[in-house]
Amino acid sequence: MNGSADDAMVRIGLEIHCQLTALRSKLFCPCPAEYRGKEPNTNVCPVCLGMPGTLPLLNKRAVEYAVMLALALNCSIPERITFYRKNYFYPDLPKNFQITQYNAYEQASVGVGGSIVLDDLEGKRVRIRRLQLEEDPGRLVYEGSIDTSNYALVDYNRAGVALVEIVTEPDFREPGEVRVFLNMLASILEHLGICDTTLEGAVRCDANVSMGDQARVEIKNINSFRDVERAIAFEMTRQRNLISRGIEIRGETRHWDDARRVTVQARAKEEEEDYRYFPEPDIPSIEISRMDVEAIRGSMPELPHARVERFVREYNLQRDTARVLVGEKVLADMLETGLKYYNNARSIANWIVTDLKGYMERYGGSGVSGGGGNGNGNGDGSGSGSGSNSILAKVTARHIAELAMLVDSGRINRTVARQIMQSAISTGILPSEAVKSMNAGMLSDRDELSPIVERVLKEERKAVIDALSNEKALNYLLGKVMRYSKGRADPRLVLDMLRERVTREGK
Ligand SMILES: [Zn+2]
Repeated sequence: MNGSADDAMVRIGLEIHCQLTALRSKLFCPCPAEYRGKEPNTNVCPVCLGMPGTLPLLNKRAVEYAVMLALALNCSIPERITFYRKNYFYPDLPKNFQITQYNAYEQASVGVGGSIVLDDLEGKRVRIRRLQLEEDPGRLVYEGSIDTSNYALVDYNRAGVALVEIVTEPDFREPGEVRVFLNMLASILEHLGICDTTLEGAVRCDANVSMGDQARVEIKNINSFRDVERAIAFEMTRQRNLISRGIEIRGETRHWDDARRVTVQARAKEEEEDYRYFPEPDIPSIEISRMDVEAIRGSMPELPHARVERFVREYNLQRDTARVLVGEKVLADMLETGLKYYNNARSIANWIVTDLKGYMERYGGSGVSGGGGNGNGNGDGSGSGSGSNSILAKVTARHIAELAMLVDSGRINRTVARQIMQSAISTGILPSEAVKSMNAGMLSDRDELSPIVERVLKEERKAVIDALSNEKALNYLLGKVMRYSKGRADPRLVLDMLRERVTREGK
């Protein structure tokens, strides 16, 4: 314990588990990969229950998907991959061992030595140590919380689902960088189409934190991406406090308690040797030829980085806008679908990035939900769900494209457009339809509008004077007329009337 707490170099590394949710079946048996929402212990067979005499049969597509992800993370792919048994005794593991890959023989993992460049962090490079394929354990279900429950129930529906574990080097220096990385990873997973990151527990993350030459602390049981940031920040503060008081950091595993927002000690750190890894005798090593790798590379969909560049090139979008869109694949897809209805990418992109994204954030977490810690049985992966999906169920690419077109053509102003958007969120009604029914009740009679216009001119003297030289002030006045008329005034007529009146006042 030398050096002061504040200038000690912080090292943060991640272990991320991603379920390959696009697979139809589990990693080693024909049971469906989709286990969510099923009666406990109904999505099982003798293989994933580890009955004596059963043999695992490797899901080839899982290997393909894992290789795809490894390539997307710029890993090299060893020519031969091998599975190992990781032995530990815990009720979530019916066989008492997990079939995984062994990090001591890195050459046996699906991918090694990769990296990912984060444009949102000025090109910071995060190194990927390895990427491996393994099976998900079952889930323990507690009465209330793990600490107070009188019993634990076990559900093996998830046991044997294909997981990819990604281990980063400890290249992060602060929690915010982790958030950027995880968002980027989620976007890659979505673009590859191998993992639906919005599914509860589909992406789970453990973190490790160390300061200077102090021991490394692992944090498990982190239930969402937002909590990864919080857990790391808490852990950094805790360790800094100890170091500043001259207390040595103990290497240990801690759990994130999301109710109290603290990390709590779990158990003395287990050494790798405790797991008694040995090669899985029932699965032969798999050779992956260069040809296989190149075939997989050739079949890969467009990745986020390339898509951003294409958006800039093809649609003339600003790079920042393109990045925001591609950061959530669903938004980038919405732009490209919207172009079928209105061929103006910049306008549609603007609506998505400024308005729609705002609504999504207000009405529930947008993007990715995380899940509980993997392995050794502690998490049951309660993700935050995705409130944004409920908005996207009503507001489609066509809605956004129509709104953009209606505003650009001057048929409605932005205030009315926002009202239409707001009502579409609950009703799903298309803007073109909404405008039709509004036009039916639209105030487009000068005599009817005149009192409202006069009222606004009287109330807003300053804006009237400003409007002589500033178009924005005119729009402000228009907004006010729209508000008083409850959105029914014909904006183009009102604008004409305002111009006339303002000009007259100026003389
Ligand atoms: Zn099974």
